Amino acid sequence: MIVRFAPSPTGLLHIGNLRTAIFNWLLAKEKGEGGTFVLRYDDTDAERSRVEYADAILEDLGWIGIHPDLVIRQSERIPLYDAAVARLTAAGLLYPCYETAEELDVRRKRRAARDLPPIYGREALKLDVASRAELESRGLKPHWRFLLPNHDGDPFAPVRTDIGWDDLIRGPQTVDLASLSDPVLVREDGSYLYTLPSVVDDGAVGITDVIRGGDHITNTGVQIALFEALGLAVPRFGHHNLLTTIDGEGLSKRSGALSLRSLREGGVEPMAVASLAALVGLSGSIEAVDDLTALGDRLVLADVSASASKFDPAEVDRLNQALVHRMPYKRVAERLRQLDVPDGDAEAFWSAVRGNCVHVRDAATWRDVVYGGAPDASALGPDDRAFAAAAFDLLPAGPFDGASWAAWTGAVKTATGRKGRALFMPLRIALTGLDHGPELAALLPLIGRERVEARRPSAAAA
Ligand code: GLU
Repeated sequence: MIVRFAPSPTGLLHIGNLRTAIFNWLLAKEKGEGGTFVLRYDDTDAERSRVEYADAILEDLGWIGIHPDLVIRQSERIPLYDAAVARLTAAGLLYPCYETAEELDVRRKRRAARDLPPIYGREALKLDVASRAELESRGLKPHWRFLLPNHDGDPFAPVRTDIGWDDLIRGPQTVDLASLSDPVLVREDGSYLYTLPSVVDDGAVGITDVIRGGDHITNTGVQIALFEALGLAVPRFGHHNLLTTIDGEGLSKRSGALSLRSLREGGVEPMAVASLAALVGLSGSIEAVDDLTALGDRLVLADVSASASKFDPAEVDRLNQALVHRMPYKRVAERLRQLDVPDGDAEAFWSAVRGNCVHVRDAATWRDVVYGGAPDASALGPDDRAFAAAAFDLLPAGPFDGASWAAWTGAVKTATGRKGRALFMPLRIALTGLDHGPELAALLPLIGRERVEARRPSAAAA
């Protein structure tokens, strides 16, 4: 199995693009037996393609855990496309056209008025050598169209021609080639549009499976015709549904919204992003999974819905939180070091605070609570302040450990008769300055005797 992910490097990858990449990756690597994953930059649009975006795409895929076996750039493969053009031209399947956009528009309207489908009428096919020469002598340059195989010998009388395939996701599909205009493969300036290079590369690389967005279904009909015209093996196709935001808006590479880059910079875990990108619109709830292998187990191509799936960007945080709450220490050890969490205690610190973090970097808040100076305990009213001050006299002796909190609060309860929230909350506020947070039983040994003593409230009201 050889799959490819073929973004144009004209912007940063977003969650919708990632869905395509991940489906291909899972199919080749997790579900298939050692398939090959090709990253192909569709960069024939020299004006809009940027090396920086190409680099960012590779880096962002790597962050998710997708490492291509092969990277190719269409801009470096032009001779292959030229050879295909020569082949199609020789077969009479590629013809020069000279219409301007305005002319085409006028024709479309005329056709519409006569109830004809709004497709190109192949007028340029009628041009003889002399009229072409005349047009070119006026400085006009041709663009080139592929003659679709939708007729029985008379291209001016197209007949219904269904091109079909068994879609890996949607089941049997057909596209009627008679309902389509002959696609332009080469622009006036000689540059290539997407269609021909894509087919030539899929053929040259031996792509076996093309998984891409449902917006390419019509292209697939055209491309199958082109594969056949070029004598290339036709791959299997699967078209997944597109993602839109909750208000139905499509995702755009150009806007940078929900880009992998911005999510990563926002401290989101790659598997939160990957889980969302892959699981939206599948049966079952969207849950964070720990790695791509587990995601592969969840993915059943035939379950992917055909209509667009709305997703709520806020889901990313929910999934992230779920991952962080169960994240093992070894996965965050380096990041905690970067957050200056003292090494010796880091594992105990992490297990104490992870349940109170949405992002790993939220650990910095708890680092300050544990290792920082005396917190602001001004939220304590006079009674609670006096109570907490007295309670500090009952702190157990010796270094604190996992049993110290229970021992301490037991003693305080006996001495004062306070219990429940009335007992715990003043102590929590005195120790942390907050009315919420990780278990104090776990925090107390981390804060340690010295810092705890420094947090002893004065009995007098502040
Ligand atoms: N560059 C195309 C895109 O981004 C690739 C489509 C395809 O997978 O063939 O939509």
